[in-house]
Amino acid sequence: MASVASKLYSDDVSLLVLLLDTNPFFWSSTSIKFSQFLSHVFAFLNAVLGLNQLNQVVVIATGYSSCDYIYDSSSTSNHGSLESSRIGLPALFGSLIEKLEDFITKDEELIKEEEVEDRIASSLLSGSLSMALCYIQRVFRSGNIHPQPRILCLQGSPDGPEQYVAVMNSIFSAQRLMVPIDSCYIGAQNSAFLQQASYITGGVHHTPKQLDGLFQYLTTIFATDLHSRSFVQLPKPVGVDFRASCFCHKKTIDMGYICSVCLSIFCAHHKKCSTCGSVFGQSKLDDASPVSNKKRKAPET
Ligand SMILES: [Zn+2]
Ligand SMILES: [Zn+2]
Repeated sequence: MASVASKLYSDDVSLLVLLLDTNPFFWSSTSIKFSQFLSHVFAFLNAVLGLNQLNQVVVIATGYSSCDYIYDSSSTSNHGSLESSRIGLPALFGSLIEKLEDFITKDEELIKEEEVEDRIASSLLSGSLSMALCYIQRVFRSGNIHPQPRILCLQGSPDGPEQYVAVMNSIFSAQRLMVPIDSCYIGAQNSAFLQQASYITGGVHHTPKQLDGLFQYLTTIFATDLHSRSFVQLPKPVGVDFRASCFCHKKTIDMGYICSVCLSIFCAHHKKCSTCGSVFGQSKLDDASPVSNKKRKAPET
């Protein structure tokens, strides 16, 4: 397999994979309407496609309990039905809106009431990140010539600590593939996941102050292709929230215990690592006793 650098199409042709947060719990609580938000996003996508005729845009919807591909500009079946052109929608995004509506309806059907009560109303970011990476991997394997991929997370929902491991695995995969994850966080809190994703993969993280100017933030920061980024002043991270979630209760913690064999994180002391099975030594006396299982004994850190 050729290295990533040698397979590039040209230095300014982009493949933008946009992860769109459609979480109904977030959109029912925010000041900006989902339709207003979409009009900013569509204008931005049009701008990206207009910058270079070889640019490609893929949109993945991130719902509460599911995620799905809803638009691919390289696909030929993008023209919406007569219905959407009749109500005055741009032809380019006619099929996107139809698929988005279907997706949101299906996603809401999957929401179970009892589940909502004991879970933070986060979106399925880990799922859509994985889908984006799968798509990019397919593009990488399709041949020697392909656009330069990047991922943009447009997220408003809070982080779901129970997705910590899956999100971090996706981030490290993106880092390996040299795919930057840009993130635009429009929610009320800060997103440690997105801050870490952009920091680790060399992407840009930004939290717009005024959502009615979202289009301007999107075009001036996130429309910039990777080649041009060295020539413009983009927002620099002002401190990244590096907190992790414990593997035992999926809670965000400031300090905890780490298994020295597999690096699993726990909020309290355990006798045995639940991930790799290593037995944590308590004292020197413990070390002298025979190891009952065949796993390595790990010193507690
Ligand atoms: Zn815990
Ligand atoms: Zn372990």
